[in-house]
Amino acid sequence: MSERIEVDVAIAGGGTAALAAAVALKRAGLSVAVIEKRVCGAGASGVNFGGVRRQGRELVELPLANRSRLLWEGLNEFLGEDVEFDVSGHIKLARSDADMAELERYAEAARAYGLDLTLLGANAVHAELPWLGEKVVGASLSPTDGQANPRVVGPAFARLARRVGVIVREHTTVVSATTTGHGFEIEASGGLTVTSRYLINASGAGSNLLAEAFGEPVPLTPLTPNMLVTEPLPYFVSRSIGVCGGDVYVRQIRRGNVIFGGGKGWFDADHTFARPVSEQSIDGMIRTLQLVPGLAEARVIRTWSGVDGQMPDHIPVIGSSSTTPGLFHAFGFSGHGFQLGPVIGIILSELVLDGRTESPIEPFSITRFVGDAGEAPRFAGVTGESAEPPAHVEH
Ligand SMILES: Cc1cc2nc3c(=O)[nH]c(=O)nc-3n(C[C@H](O)[C@H](O)[C@H](O)COP(=O)(O)OP(=O)(O)OC[C@H]3O[C@@H](n4cnc5c(N)ncnc54)[C@H](O)[C@@H]3O)c2cc1C
Repeated sequence: MSERIEVDVAIAGGGTAALAAAVALKRAGLSVAVIEKRVCGAGASGVNFGGVRRQGRELVELPLANRSRLLWEGLNEFLGEDVEFDVSGHIKLARSDADMAELERYAEAARAYGLDLTLLGANAVHAELPWLGEKVVGASLSPTDGQANPRVVGPAFARLARRVGVIVREHTTVVSATTTGHGFEIEASGGLTVTSRYLINASGAGSNLLAEAFGEPVPLTPLTPNMLVTEPLPYFVSRSIGVCGGDVYVRQIRRGNVIFGGGKGWFDADHTFARPVSEQSIDGMIRTLQLVPGLAEARVIRTWSGVDGQMPDHIPVIGSSSTTPGLFHAFGFSGHGFQLGPVIGIILSELVLDGRTESPIEPFSITRFVGDAGEAPRFAGVTGESAEPPAHVEH
């Protein structure tokens, strides 16, 4: 059975940024359709670590992250649901003097972007977090960063989108798109054709489909961080914790479960699903988790992974297409797009409505990769085979 939908804006992908854009555009009076391959929030937006952090970001991302942080403050009210946003602060630990020097340099540079970090010596860190392992020599604290529950955020945005009248089509895959005299014609699974004036490409790790369709292939690769959650434990991890190098990150939710991550998983051929590395490796990771010796005996009750799109320079593609008027991209968040999701939606809506945004998005232009896609690293991308995307995850 075939079906045709005509809207002002079609959005490929149902992640947080896509849905936030859909809500803003619908409220501005445009008709909007979101087309999602699985269910909204099933991608990276719904399965991530939950870090709502500005500390440690590339400096060019900070203006966007600062603006997003303001949105997080009012997100419960905006969504009409509790997304468990907790301003726990984010503390980044140094395990060597070289790490500490790096934290000092970052704190100095970040101040110019309005991010105030507090540097702590070894004694101060251990006084605040006495359960930390011996290896910590200092830290940098961002008191206004925090954490939230991604399993709530993604679906909550989808529920709001539906409430305000966005057409949300789940289990529907965008398979191709072309330009017409008036905009776009998008073919999706199930015989669905969507015609639209504007098209937003926010398909996460699958975004190259539309980028390529409009002559802008990019070196987008899948990133699959490992996540673990323990049984509920007495509350003790009062901050969201990362380390220099980004190889371990830990937070504890109010119910007591400790969530932590490190390493990376495997992904399937079309980068839809990922699963964590072998049980043995996870056990090994737990045993070697010298940072939090108190977790050594904790029972892991679940492990998972997810797939984000990663760019070679670890910053996303955000903005107008360089080839096709009316097409906008937002993908490649390289393992740290959860915090940015709400503001990316606003930025996309500004681009559609006004042709410009107040946020400085020039560094994220897709044009920085023109001609680069052919040099993209190649991965096996088959379940069971070892996939080795470049590691750059920091939560
Ligand atoms: C395990 C993990 C931990 C992370 N931890 C953090 C963290 O602590 N803090 C942080 O800031 N960031 C974190 N991130 C990164 C963050 O989750 C992502 O950067 C962000 O969610 C990306 O959002 P997105 O909308 O681009 O992609 P997604 O949320 O993946 O959304 C893209 C959607 O597009 C759909 N799609 C793909 N192809 C098609 C198609 N052809 N047709 C229709 N739909 C399609 C997918 O099904 C998916 O739902 C983490 C990521 C992972 C995987």
